[in-house]
Amino acid sequence: MTDTLTASASPAQSPAPVYTVPQERRVVTAIPGPKSEELQHRRLASVSAGVSSTLPVYITKANGAILVDVDGNQFIDLGAGIGVTTIGHTDSSVVEAAAGQVKDFIHTLFTITPYEEYVRVAELLAEHTPGDFPKKSVLINSGAEAVENGVKIARKYTGRRAVAVLDHAYHGRTNLTMAMNYKAMPYATGYGPLAGDVYHAPSSYPYHDGLSGAEAADRTITYLEKVVGATDLACLVVEPIQGEGGFMVPADGYLPALQEWCTANGVVMIADEIQSGMARTGAYYASEHFGWIPDLVLTAKGIAGGLPLAAVTGRADIMDASQPGGLGGTFGGNPVACAAAIAVFESIERNNLLAEGKRIEAALTSSLEQLKTKYDIIGDIRGRGAMIAIELVQPGTGDTTKEPNQAAVTAIAKFAAKNGVLLLTAGTYGNVLRFLPSLAVSDELIVDAMSVIDDALASL
Ligand SMILES: *Cc1c(COP(=O)(O)O)cnc(C)c1O
Repeated sequence: MTDTLTASASPAQSPAPVYTVPQERRVVTAIPGPKSEELQHRRLASVSAGVSSTLPVYITKANGAILVDVDGNQFIDLGAGIGVTTIGHTDSSVVEAAAGQVKDFIHTLFTITPYEEYVRVAELLAEHTPGDFPKKSVLINSGAEAVENGVKIARKYTGRRAVAVLDHAYHGRTNLTMAMNYKAMPYATGYGPLAGDVYHAPSSYPYHDGLSGAEAADRTITYLEKVVGATDLACLVVEPIQGEGGFMVPADGYLPALQEWCTANGVVMIADEIQSGMARTGAYYASEHFGWIPDLVLTAKGIAGGLPLAAVTGRADIMDASQPGGLGGTFGGNPVACAAAIAVFESIERNNLLAEGKRIEAALTSSLEQLKTKYDIIGDIRGRGAMIAIELVQPGTGDTTKEPNQAAVTAIAKFAAKNGVLLLTAGTYGNVLRFLPSLAVSDELIVDAMSVIDDALASL
């Protein structure tokens, strides 16, 4: 009795996404093409040299997992604006929510006259961040601002001064956060004096240190106790999977052991989930993979489908230690960004996007495992969900010294770009290729992108 029409309209099936750009790679000019070259010329005359671009092709349209440039080339986007357009470029629910909000009102300033959208985002964050205790949030504009506020809130709550981070960390480009990054170049070099009282503790990097989670935690805690002193430490800020550092996945037990030590010593432990959060890794927050329940969680990048929004969320008593007026900012929790964020949370639920993260992890890692058997410069494959990386080493050093191979990373990213695949690099030594696609990327696009990377590796 069911004809094809009613079968395809069955309520059990979620509707197939409708794309406004065909989900395919298409290279029709040299990369960059002539129109991009022309824009690049204008840009060099008008934009600060301090702002760089990975791939100077100028984008006119983006949808799903595809970027379209001014010359008509279509790129498979494996970067998603560094994990921002997590549910896909110009997802229709985000576009509609933001457009509707623009018509109603664009700005009032929550700290003058509030609105429901801000409150709803705070409720959704309380619901979806790890931990089953009363939580509160503050909304701001950027990841670095979330880190700054997390540190402020922890200092106010503890009455202590020192801030600790881990080796290979990245936390932003503002004055405080540039002191919290591992790499001086390009983030801090020449921009000093840097903020004081920031301490860099050893991390867990299993591929290189070979330590168990307990051993690595011991090493970190020893540093904190000896070099900083627990009673002066306000907070320890940690990315559960390090982003710019190269997607290092800590050894089992490492993060819970640090949290236990922090709790016992009155230190606020903060998860910087700016890159790893918002359903990117097959869980709402990557901390969940490690059994870590942080005191405070920082959200940014993927929260609002591409609109600028960030948050600090955590234990209500810590969040409430700040005096009225101490937190906020003119654009923080902008209603259009909040409306988009609500649509992102709804889309994650409606379209079961946590499962999409797991699908992408399986597709990426199985392709990369195959490449690893062919090319011995692939030393390590790691990550979770749609946050997977490979670390490239010098030939023959994968089981011994694991010498970084930045030249291969650069060459592969360049080859991929010329062939319509946008691929990001990472790693303290520029030795990591990271795959950070949107959850809208299909298995077919992943296979196609991987064939380009196979060709790139073969061409080295
Ligand atoms: C991107 C990033 C930041 C900084 O966010 P901005 O929005 O660029 O200021 C901080 N921490 C991590 C882990 C990030 O990936």
